[in-house]
Amino acid sequence: MAGFPEVMDKLVSLCKRRGFIFQSSEIYGGTGSVWDYGPLGVELKKNIKDRWWNAMVRSRDDIEGLDAAILMHPRTWEASGHVAGFTDPLVDCKQCKARFRADKMDPKKLEANVCPNCGNKGTLTEPRLFNLMFKTFMGALEESSSVVYLRPETAQGIFVNFLNVQQSARQKVPFGIAQIGKAFRNEITPGNFIFRTREFEQMEMQFFVEPGTDMEWFEQWKALRMQWHLDLGLSPERLEFHQHTDTELAHYARAAFDVTFDFGGTLGHQEIEGVHNRGDFDLSQHQQYSGKKLEYFDQVNNKRYVPYVIETSVGADRVTLAALVNAYREETVEGESEGRVVLGLKPSIAPIKAAIFPLTKKDGQPEMARKIVDDLRGAFPVDYDETGSIGKRYRRQDEVGTPFCITVDGQSTGDQTVTVRNRDSLAQDRVDVSQLKGYLAGKLVD
Ligand code: ATP
Repeated sequence: MAGFPEVMDKLVSLCKRRGFIFQSSEIYGGTGSVWDYGPLGVELKKNIKDRWWNAMVRSRDDIEGLDAAILMHPRTWEASGHVAGFTDPLVDCKQCKARFRADKMDPKKLEANVCPNCGNKGTLTEPRLFNLMFKTFMGALEESSSVVYLRPETAQGIFVNFLNVQQSARQKVPFGIAQIGKAFRNEITPGNFIFRTREFEQMEMQFFVEPGTDMEWFEQWKALRMQWHLDLGLSPERLEFHQHTDTELAHYARAAFDVTFDFGGTLGHQEIEGVHNRGDFDLSQHQQYSGKKLEYFDQVNNKRYVPYVIETSVGADRVTLAALVNAYREETVEGESEGRVVLGLKPSIAPIKAAIFPLTKKDGQPEMARKIVDDLRGAFPVDYDETGSIGKRYRRQDEVGTPFCITVDGQSTGDQTVTVRNRDSLAQDRVDVSQLKGYLAGKLVD
């Protein structure tokens, strides 16, 4: 396997060249740590989001979906603690103007006041607190009364809608609310491609439970979420739990574990998802700040209480990066001088499911191949390619993770069969065209 950060550099270049991910506003020189998903990237990320939605919402009757607005009442962020506390301690170098997060710096360098960038001594400022929320203005006048924030997490849209959802969907505790949406953080040290960006997407679920049953549910959600990452195809040896220590634990949190993924090299094991037992902190805060009761009435036992919340919070972009890093491999091919790059994505999340090639541009082969494309298109995303040698066409598809390549050859127009080549095993099956859709469908489910 190729080393790291080499792999990340190669991925950045592959993603741009093949249309997975582009730097935002590239023609203007780019925007700091904001990325755009191209034709293949948008499919990959959508497949990952759909998997999450299916696992969390569609396949369960105790979780409801929600799509709350990005802009919320500013009091929300006072209640949640983000106005007062969503800060990173910042250190600037007066010499080279580099900026660092004090909590992520080598404590020895911080203590000795030596800039990690230019190496000068005594040029670092004292740590200052910097709020990560993006501020903007609502309405025509830039007055302080109309300041609003771009949400730094999707969770608060769920908390403020707790009773709306519970009552309209007639749910009983325990139940959950899930949503996928954009979040914004003015990160000081963004980077590592789409690992830490200033605009990103979260997939969050808050599960409301009766106090006293919370640790049981917490354990259940921990296990379910780890299984989801394994089902996505992430290698078991790259996944771990990291338990928050007392110093890492938010003051209101009763327990917190991160699911970490080993990105390799200098990045190493990093959080991709957080599973938290938040107690009744959020609902109680919103009760206090809004003056509206956010209690649940248990009709069976005739009692009222503020539920506890088990939260699962995962970044769609960060998991997409994990899937890409996990899938990237370089291989030698027997009998060929050139190796191949393969994105060994699970077929169900691959952006293109099958590519169809006529072996030559004559003898009715392109027409037959086009007809196969038309037949399959309604069922799966497919690609047609007639340019270059077959070998080159295979390489192009391997590199973007297409699990199957279908070739129409001299025999095909006669007996209505085609070859189907498997991306990973390189095995080729001869399949009757009339059976093709069923053949592929059987291999694309997991
Ligand atoms: P970190 O310590 O990496 O900044 P966090 O603990 O602040 O993350 P949470 O607030 O728990 O992260 O957010 C939940 C998930 O959202 C993270 O596990 C991550 O997948 C994703 N996420 C958070 N911040 C970013 C970001 N700036 N860019 C991309 N994804 C992010």
